Amino acid sequence: MLIDSHAHLDSPRYADDREQMLQRAWQAGVGAVLSIGIGEGPTEMHQARDLCREFNGRPNLPRLYASAGIYPHSTGEADEAALAKLDALLAEPEVIACGEIGLDYYHEGAPRDVQRQGLIRQLEIAAARKRPILIHCRGTNESEDAWHDLFLVLEEHWAKTGLGGIMHCFGGGWEQACRSLDLGFLVSFAGNVTYPKAQPLRDVAARAPLDGILVETDAPWLAPAPDRGKRNEPAMVARTAQVLAECLGKPPEEIASATTANFRGLFHLPDNV
Ligand SMILES: [Zn+2]
Repeated sequence: MLIDSHAHLDSPRYADDREQMLQRAWQAGVGAVLSIGIGEGPTEMHQARDLCREFNGRPNLPRLYASAGIYPHSTGEADEAALAKLDALLAEPEVIACGEIGLDYYHEGAPRDVQRQGLIRQLEIAAARKRPILIHCRGTNESEDAWHDLFLVLEEHWAKTGLGGIMHCFGGGWEQACRSLDLGFLVSFAGNVTYPKAQPLRDVAARAPLDGILVETDAPWLAPAPDRGKRNEPAMVARTAQVLAECLGKPPEEIASATTANFRGLFHLPDNV
């Protein structure tokens, strides 16, 4: 069994076939999906939770969990009402994580200080609700600027909680992977690790400890090779797990059982879900 630790199941790109898409995931061996609750902004933060309520309990579908959070680009909208909504969502049993939150200096959809303040406010809420966080971190080209600022924030405002989290769609180098692991984070690999030019990322994956990794799709984006550019979906996480297995020189079953155990461990989930 595989767990897709990051998919935007509320995307309008699944409007016409969401249940069939989830059935395909189940048939591909995906037993659970973490559905990311950022929507197009804070007004849509509840959509991932709603999908848990809609689909959990139906036969032959993966178990759905949800997150809620305000994406770096949307931190300009992180007002008191949005933060109160986030706090209320994180109190709900299906909403096991706060995210994806973080810093994005590549697109810079909000000024850097606004992103940083929005991140810190959400860390405080997640800490009070005892929810691990899902981090999105992207620097400017060939630069570690966002990682540098991110680690400063996490060391000051998050490390002491001991709650840890996930470095979603990890794209950093070995140094960033080690610092993440030291902070109690899991490093999650997405479809980009399968792309021809991603050898540096595969080199990082090859050195990663088995108890520190996850797999994800980031669907509907980042479809693994050879479907790059097409709509991604959780069923395709098996292909990313396969490439990860090749990097680590382990059988795919071992990657599946390790990543599933890592996910359950982070969120304190029982073995039967
Ligand atoms: Zn995402």
